[in-house]
Amino acid sequence: MNKKDYYEVLGVSKDASQDEIKSAFRKLAKKYHPDVSKEPDAEEKFKEAQEAYAVLSDESKRKQYDQFGHTAFDNNGAGGYDFSGFDFSDIIREAFGGSFEGGFGGTDFSDFGFGFGSKANRPTKGRDKIVRMDLDFEEAVYGTKKEITLTLNDTCDECHGEGGFDINTCDECHGSGTITAQKQTIFGAFMTKTVCNKCGGKGEIYTKECRKCHGLGTVKAKKNIEVKVPAGVDTGVQLRIKEKGEAGQNGGPNGDIYLEFYVNDHPIFQREGSDIYLELPITVAEAALGCKKKVPTLYGNITLTIPAGSESGDKHRVRGKGIENVNSYGKGDMYIILKVKTPQKLSRDQKRLFEQLAKTGLDDDREFNKIKEYL
Ligand SMILES: [Zn+2]
Ligand SMILES: [Zn+2]
Repeated sequence: MNKKDYYEVLGVSKDASQDEIKSAFRKLAKKYHPDVSKEPDAEEKFKEAQEAYAVLSDESKRKQYDQFGHTAFDNNGAGGYDFSGFDFSDIIREAFGGSFEGGFGGTDFSDFGFGFGSKANRPTKGRDKIVRMDLDFEEAVYGTKKEITLTLNDTCDECHGEGGFDINTCDECHGSGTITAQKQTIFGAFMTKTVCNKCGGKGEIYTKECRKCHGLGTVKAKKNIEVKVPAGVDTGVQLRIKEKGEAGQNGGPNGDIYLEFYVNDHPIFQREGSDIYLELPITVAEAALGCKKKVPTLYGNITLTIPAGSESGDKHRVRGKGIENVNSYGKGDMYIILKVKTPQKLSRDQKRLFEQLAKTGLDDDREFNKIKEYL
């Protein structure tokens, strides 16, 4: 499914402020609202705008979108962000200058999957949560299991999320959840529907409110969640833990948790994507004569053969000793960069040896000779 860019849909730039996003959506809502618009594809356009606004008005969702595009929300198979849990009522009301308190012309808004009137008893997905997780370098490389403790809105176990006991039809709205009245608006006279105050739109009321959650159906609860961190994650990578977030409402699913990783540095290894870099100090003699050197890797020691005449900056590639590729198969490589150390402090013996060495030249070296031409 080829989806339009959310920023394009709203006609704002990628760095638009929340105010700009809001005002762009308000304009589109006014233009394409299916109840007032005469455009032939109004409903389609309106839905597009709703989806774009639901994502971009939420900083954490916007961040995911900026990073992963539409694929960030593609898990539901619908090819886009499921915005059915998003409450548009305030902004739609604002778009129409505060003239609307209920629906438009008696339209049942539940058909459009948003807003007011019927929202109170529609199953709603719980809120998502982004949680930062710090990892040691090794934990990120090898993967790990961790337990996180979060305080979340959890379904009340006393009333099983119902909010109360002994259910009865609301006598105010006679079970419809809405109160219908005629209202004058900028578009003329409409029958408007407002949410029933007594039952909050549910159409039913409990004779006895749940004392544990005070009728909310959810309680704040500390939850321990075990997380399996896959090998190879890096700073900024997000992991989605499906439906472990805030409790949904009216039987809706829980929200998701997004773990965002921050990986600490390693004292000697540097990481670049799935490749690992190690700077290896060697002596002048080792560089000149060549040697075999024991080198630590992420997967045990190896012996590296350093050829005679090595220089600072020489790079040795060790295949497959990098980091597990988190998005595909296989490991990256390790690069060992030589650093020839000039001694800062010499023993008497060493000094004598270097003095002896100094008497010999490097007369046939090309670079030395090149400079000599200009002397
Ligand atoms: Zn309860
Ligand atoms: Zn009622």
